[in-house]
Amino acid sequence: MVTLMNDKNLHILAFGAHADDVEIGMAGTIAKLAAEGKQIGICDLTDADLSSNGNVALRKEEAGKAAEILGVSTRSSLGFPDRGLFLKEEYIQQVASIIRASKPKIVFAPYFEDRHPDHGNCARLVEEAVFSAGVKKYKTDENNEPHRVEKLYFYMINGFHQPDFTVDISLFIEKKLAALRAYKSQFELSEQSYNTPLVNGYIETVEARERMFGKMVGVSFAEGFKTKVPLLLKHDLMGE
Ligand SMILES: [Zn+2]
Repeated sequence: MVTLMNDKNLHILAFGAHADDVEIGMAGTIAKLAAEGKQIGICDLTDADLSSNGNVALRKEEAGKAAEILGVSTRSSLGFPDRGLFLKEEYIQQVASIIRASKPKIVFAPYFEDRHPDHGNCARLVEEAVFSAGVKKYKTDENNEPHRVEKLYFYMINGFHQPDFTVDISLFIEKKLAALRAYKSQFELSEQSYNTPLVNGYIETVEARERMFGKMVGVSFAEGFKTKVPLLLKHDLMGE
C-alpha cells in the first residue's frame, strides 16, 4: 500500500527500511531541524512485518509516537515486504514517486555498511530513486514531474563508522532517547521478548556512540553521517 506524503514541499525526507531506523541514526538531527521550523518527512519502506518482537499494528503506533516526539510533519510506509528490499524497478518507481510528491531538498538513507542487509538494500533503492526522480522522461505511476534532490546523505544504524560530517545534537539527545524509548516492543526486554541484539542495552549503545561522535568534534553529543560527494563549506574556514 502506498501512502503519499502531504503535498507540501519537505526540507528533509528520511527513508528507513523499518520504523526506528531513522530514529536510531538521526533522531537528534530531525528534532533539531524540526525545532528550527523545517518540514520533515519519514518514509519507512516496510512495515517490519518480520520483526521478532511486536507486530505491525504496534510498531505503527510506536512509530507515530516517535514522530510526534520529534516534530515530524509526515510519516508514511510503502509496505514493501520485510527482508524483500531488492533492487526492483517497481520499488524504485514507488520511492521516486514519493520523492517527486514531497520535493525534499535533502534525502537521507541508511549507510550501506550495516550488519542488517535490509539497511544496505534500502540505501541502494533510495539512491536509485533519488537519481530517477530527477530524470525528466522517467515515468512513475502517479508523479511525473521531475524533482532533483540537492543532497543525499547516509545515517548510521548498527555500528560505528568514521563520519564524513557530524551534526551537534547536544540539546536534542533527550528527545532522541525519548523517541527511541517509544519503540518499547523493540528495545525493552520483557518476559515475552525474543532475545534480539536490540533488547539488551541498544539505546545505551546508541547514546554512547553519539557521545563519541560528539567528543570527536568537541561537543557533548553528535550524530555522524556519510556522503559520497564532498561537502562545500557555506561559510569561511574560520566558521564565520
Ligand atoms: Zn532496521
